[in-house]
Amino acid sequence: MDKEVKLMEKDVFCRIVNGEIPCYKLYEDDDVLAFLDISQVTKGHALVISKKHYDNFLSTPKEIMHKVMDVAQRIGQVEISLMGAKGVNILSNCYEEAGQSVIHFHVHVIPRYGKKEGISIEMKDNSEGLNLPMIASEIHNRL
Ligand code: AMP
Repeated sequence: MDKEVKLMEKDVFCRIVNGEIPCYKLYEDDDVLAFLDISQVTKGHALVISKKHYDNFLSTPKEIMHKVMDVAQRIGQVEISLMGAKGVNILSNCYEEAGQSVIHFHVHVIPRYGKKEGISIEMKDNSEGLNLPMIASEIHNRL
């Protein structure tokens, strides 16, 4: 095994995939693993990960990313329909700047039962002074 592969396998999610660290498993197939987040921001907070190591959502091949999102959708549906959740946040942090602490692609599925929970995603309106047509075309032209 080369040095780069060894380094990548050191992250905690690779260790869970390899069975070196236990988890409360929710789902598993050849490409995807889902388990309870150890922190449980709310009851049923789940993580859905690619079994193979990719750093984050942005660097994961489409086919695998779609499989992970499919499982995240199913867990969210179950939490709404069978576990009394009133809402679900589905999020994937990419890079440290955005709050990613484990460098291994994962999607959080966080069921919401009430407004005052240990999660707050505030989206302030900072649009004043920004040139929205220019920003839109900058992104649009590169897609
Ligand atoms: P992020 O900040 O988006 O990278 O999220 C990483 C998440 O992994 C955090 O919510 C941690 O609570 C969770 N986590 C870290 N170690 C474990 C573990 N051994 N089992 C389950 N979840 C874990």
